Amino acid sequence: MGRIPQSFIDELIARADIVEIIGARVQLKKSGREYKACCPFHAEKTPSFWVSPDKQFYHCFGCGKHGTALGFLMDHDHVAFPEAVEELATRLGLEVPHEGTGDVRARRADEPLYELLGRVALFYAQALAREPRAHEYLARRGLSDDIIERFAIGYAPNAWNELLRRFGGSDGERRQLADAGLIVERGRGALRDGERHYDRFRDRIMFPIRDTRGRVIAFGGRVIDAGEPKYLNSPETALFHKGRELYGLYETRRARANLARLIVVEGYMDTVRLHQAGVDYAVATLGTATTAEHLRRIFRVVPEVVFAFDGDRAGRAAAWRALQQALSEAREGREIRFLFLPQGHDPDTLVGEEGRTRFEERVAGALPLSEYLVRELSQQSDLAHADGRARFAENARPLFARVPAGVYRELLLERLAQVVGLSAPRLEELWTQGRTAAAATTVPRPVRPAAAIRDGGRGSLVRQAIVRLLHHPAIALEVTAAERAGLDASDEAGVALLRELLDNLRAQPAEMPAQVVQRWTGREGGESLQKLLAREEVITGGAAAAGELRAALVKLADQATGRRLEALEAKSRAGNLAANEIEEFQRLIDKLSHREARGG
Ligand SMILES: [Zn+2]
Repeated sequence: MGRIPQSFIDELIARADIVEIIGARVQLKKSGREYKACCPFHAEKTPSFWVSPDKQFYHCFGCGKHGTALGFLMDHDHVAFPEAVEELATRLGLEVPHEGTGDVRARRADEPLYELLGRVALFYAQALAREPRAHEYLARRGLSDDIIERFAIGYAPNAWNELLRRFGGSDGERRQLADAGLIVERGRGALRDGERHYDRFRDRIMFPIRDTRGRVIAFGGRVIDAGEPKYLNSPETALFHKGRELYGLYETRRARANLARLIVVEGYMDTVRLHQAGVDYAVATLGTATTAEHLRRIFRVVPEVVFAFDGDRAGRAAAWRALQQALSEAREGREIRFLFLPQGHDPDTLVGEEGRTRFEERVAGALPLSEYLVRELSQQSDLAHADGRARFAENARPLFARVPAGVYRELLLERLAQVVGLSAPRLEELWTQGRTAAAATTVPRPVRPAAAIRDGGRGSLVRQAIVRLLHHPAIALEVTAAERAGLDASDEAGVALLRELLDNLRAQPAEMPAQVVQRWTGREGGESLQKLLAREEVITGGAAAAGELRAALVKLADQATGRRLEALEAKSRAGNLAANEIEEFQRLIDKLSHREARGG
């Protein structure tokens, strides 16, 4: 099997709840914003084991053990990395993708795969009619025969080799079933050839996932009674890429000739129930968070999207992640709004209770992206005070930075400036200067002076830069190419790690510290990062951190320039400076004096 893609591990870290994972194994007690317990890794009577939901990280002050949710599973359950990934993915109802499974051979064989998936979907649909339990379940959920047919919903029989028996008579056919993600290869030690595989989906309601042309490309399966995982999706295959596909898009386009808006929900059942209720423009992401790719697809079809997520913690987290992806796709002519359902409701139950009219009234009243952004950030700061408004501005800056230039961006800037109590040009000026917004408000001092000095003043420049990157990985994107290039000349201790971090996070952005730590596990510098995360507190907001990071990079580059100048000077005194060195000498002096003239 191929390597597990980094993006999937990032997603696991982002979606897992470390408190829940550890809490299932260790008795945790809430203490302020964190949780504590007696350490499971060393014997103790008073708790020195802490779990931080903010950092998604644990740390023991007794024995020094620390790590992410994945690291904890490995250490606590004594399992290898792939098994820890599998465990976490299963809890979240995700399928672990492996790179290289969609190889050239499979891609060339696309046509037979479509054909096979179509035949299997038909078989599942027929099996549904023969299984009263499945039919009763769907009836109980309020699905009509008509909608079952429209979505081609089926049933996977409760057997390990039903598909194998019907569709896998030869080696070639079995290979196709595997390429389509319909059967799973057993581990080593299987005896006869026919036993090397088993059916992936057993005793589940099957939702075929169709591409825009209506061809079945994958399935989602839901358990009928209790059981884990509740939802099981096809793995990534040559035909199916979760981050791109939207369940129900084909059915939506077939139902409506002219579409104005799409509603994005979380589940298959939500989608199907909404369609049945007449809200026939609902689609769902497939066991994955909303991606920018999803949004681009949506905006190719309609100018307006409304996200409707459950009114629970997971739903709110999903909405916030959707907002972050949506920012880069926001522009004039597009409308992005968020509908928050009452606690304990999902679209399925709500539309069942209230009916279409009331549900569509809710949709009409959904929060625009800008207002949702303001509301969330306001909850993190007390806007009645200047400090709170300054923090609001700091927190808004990296989010605002994702919005592409244009009319929409200008309007959003005005709205944010209004909240902070500044003019739009003034707010933007402060942001582009990379200074904390605090200095601009009426507060005559930094937001939290003691904290700022404690954090900003400690450690070498390299360490300061690394700490900021670690706590706010997204700020790597704000570093200019020139600032990054300036580091190449530096030979400060630890600068290699800083360069690696910057390059990695610019090539593959991360959102959370735990993702960074997880990427570096087992790599050089990984231990240092974990220690920094365990010891350092997040003090400055993202906007200030970006400014401080960039300032540190500039200083590091200047130091390197200074040292090179000294070396050249020494050489020049000895009278043996080559022509190209004289040129370099001149260039470096220009560079430094230019910077001093700017007052930086
Ligand atoms: Zn310990």
